[in-house]
Amino acid sequence: MSEDEKFDAIIIGAGPAGSACAYTLAKDGKEVLVIEKGDTPGSKNLTGGRFYTYALEMLDADLLKEAALERKVTHEQLMMLSGDRGITIDYYDPSFNQKGHTPVSYTILRASFDEWLAGKAEEMGAVVVCGVKVDGLIEKDGMIVGVIAGEDEMYADVVIAADGVNSLIAQHAGLINDIESHTVGVGIKEVIELSGKTIEERFNLKPGEGAARMILGCTDGIHGGGFLYTNQESISLGCVLMPEEAAERKISVHEVLQNLKMHPAVYPLLEGGHTVEYGAHLVSEAGFRGIPKKLYRDGFIIIGDAAGLVINTGYSIRGIDLAIVSGIAAANAVIRANDTASVGPAYITELENLKLIPTMKATDGFFEILETPWLYDKLPNLGADICAYLYREDGELPGSIKKDILKLVKANGLSVFQLAKFGLKGVRSL
Ligand SMILES: Cc1cc2nc3c(=O)[nH]c(=O)nc-3n(C[C@H](O)[C@H](O)[C@H](O)COP(=O)(O)OP(=O)(O)OC[C@H]3O[C@@H](n4cnc5c(N)ncnc54)[C@H](O)[C@@H]3O)c2cc1C
Repeated sequence: MSEDEKFDAIIIGAGPAGSACAYTLAKDGKEVLVIEKGDTPGSKNLTGGRFYTYALEMLDADLLKEAALERKVTHEQLMMLSGDRGITIDYYDPSFNQKGHTPVSYTILRASFDEWLAGKAEEMGAVVVCGVKVDGLIEKDGMIVGVIAGEDEMYADVVIAADGVNSLIAQHAGLINDIESHTVGVGIKEVIELSGKTIEERFNLKPGEGAARMILGCTDGIHGGGFLYTNQESISLGCVLMPEEAAERKISVHEVLQNLKMHPAVYPLLEGGHTVEYGAHLVSEAGFRGIPKKLYRDGFIIIGDAAGLVINTGYSIRGIDLAIVSGIAAANAVIRANDTASVGPAYITELENLKLIPTMKATDGFFEILETPWLYDKLPNLGADICAYLYREDGELPGSIKKDILKLVKANGLSVFQLAKFGLKGVRSL
């Protein structure tokens, strides 16, 4: 392809960020090329499995009616495991699923969701080419003017990197350095097939309703946690661990997931199902402080995971919605900017206007809270000890609950001071 036959935009990656960007640009009549290295969009992608609907409404409210979604999340659950014990908190809120209101979130399976969204971008006129890996960028007079894929060179007014966490393309552009291991987690996930009826019985769900569960205490004390999402006819189960800590302790992520599956409080939920998907992926854990200092160069911008746009609060993980919002922001910038040089600054303004950067900033404190080491073993154990103490009756004269619980705090290697300090740190950092 010669420099004269250039596209308005080339997008690298057909994940939610890339496809949302392509959809918005193509809808505006721009000539867009999306290059995806997977054989189909989504074939290389892995996620826990829940998606917040506001992002799709922002992209195009009509899309929600036909999106490749699984179950409306009405049960928000938090589980703590310690040894063979388990505590589950289940927040049921039918208003999350009321007629006339858009459900807050759905569970999704990325292979079908990504393929569907990329298909929508194609329907709008974007060209999506799969099975092609972008190897590098073409630079001219300090400006990015195109991409290199194998023998091919392709040109555009703007190149948009939507190639996910640890973006090699953003590294080529000099916007990010090599990944630092303490800023990413390694996620591993299985999709376990079960009938819809069995899932509804086991999770106390009405047809179409779903559960989203975050799990603490399943990582052998390593910074991380588990997740479980109910799909129409399958369960997504997985965990995320900090790789450095796991390597130091010679614990494999696979082993941790295996133990989670076999846990007596988890196994009955999966029993009789069979694994139809198994995969691993990195996930950014740094939140606001993981966003690169610069998100653009002349002729080039980075969106989605490539730009570090993920929020992990411990009780939820958000990346897909932020990827879509950043894709919209990038497209708006391309549409509204007067020339290539003003696309980058316009993108930052759009990220602010769409509340993405302020949201990342507002949730920055979770990073430090989640660094607390005893969150992953001592706290779930203390929780289980307190439950055992409260629920076990043996006919003996009850002691002082306050004194007995203080003894349990101490027995778990914690102190009231530590807990109070943690609470204060939590309040301050939020
Ligand atoms: C274990 C785990 C659980 C998670 N759970 C959730 C959750 O429940 N909810 C949520 O909202 N978020 C979750 N996330 C985060 C979420 O998956 C990401 O934030 C989201 O996928 C980011 O979308 P993206 O489009 O930026 O990148 P990606 O989805 O990673 O897409 C990048 C695309 O670029 C392609 N690509 C990469 N390099 C090239 C190249 N050189 N040439 C061409 N194509 C290329 C890839 O094949 C891929 O299709 C989770 C992540 C993990 C790992």
